[in-house]
Amino acid sequence: MKRVLLLGGTGDALVVARRLGTSHVYSLAGLARVPTDLACEVRVGGFGGVAGLATYLREEDIALVLDATHPYAAQMSRHAREACTLVGVRLWAVRRPAWQPRTGDVWREARDWPGVVDAIAAYEKPLLTLGREPLAHLDEIPASQFWTIRCLDPHEGNARARIVDARGPFSIEGERALFDVARIDVVVSKNSGGRATEAKLAVARERGLPVVMLARPALPEADRAFDDPASALDALTTELPLP
Ligand code: NAP
Repeated sequence: MKRVLLLGGTGDALVVARRLGTSHVYSLAGLARVPTDLACEVRVGGFGGVAGLATYLREEDIALVLDATHPYAAQMSRHAREACTLVGVRLWAVRRPAWQPRTGDVWREARDWPGVVDAIAAYEKPLLTLGREPLAHLDEIPASQFWTIRCLDPHEGNARARIVDARGPFSIEGERALFDVARIDVVVSKNSGGRATEAKLAVARERGLPVVMLARPALPEADRAFDDPASALDALTTELPLP
């Protein structure tokens, strides 16, 4: 029986995990919710770098790794590439296409956190949707700014920042309400792609607000890459019987 190791932590990965039978493994870093209703095995926590993952692949007799991690989880993707090459296991990947600017969008790219700080310097009420990274900079918020930070981590914030701990998908109506209440004048985002979190871009567009987009990290080549989980599942069903 060919065993699949699915590297997850995204909605796309969960779509695939829900179709995997008992002999396959769904792996999570352990930072967010762990599903308890899957037929496949669920393992939680890092492998211990490339060497640890290579050992895991050998010991667990894994025939195929499907990397469906987030496009900004570049370290896990690099480790998967290196470990698969070491052990001679095939690597497939779900690589969600990036969002592209549309007519009316005012996007500026930032390469890193200092680039983000620079790009929002002229604004007062940024909405930061970069995960937990802004939480490490709460003491550096300029007196001219009040940050709204949306991430999965509950946090009390401070006099210059409010933390909204919420998980997508987000609706247009919900985003409009957040922009109104927080009087958002600039949006900061990863270019995650997909539908779940794109409503903020539509609201920025309709209001003529700028978006600072954190550049995507470079990801390694997979042996096969898919734009979405449905295509990956189609390919998987030709390789192994899915229930
Ligand atoms: P990362 O920087 O690429 O990975 C850091 C380390 O976490 C990896 O070296 C690995 O530890 C462990 N790890 C990551 N994903 C794992 C998985 N699926 N199974 C087992 N171990 C995993 O990743 P990150 O950016 O911190 O993201 C962590 C997880 O959150 C990822 O699974 C990702 O899909 C999910 N996520 C990330 C983002 C984001 O914006 N970065 C957004 C949504 C979801 P070892 O070296 O010990 O193996």
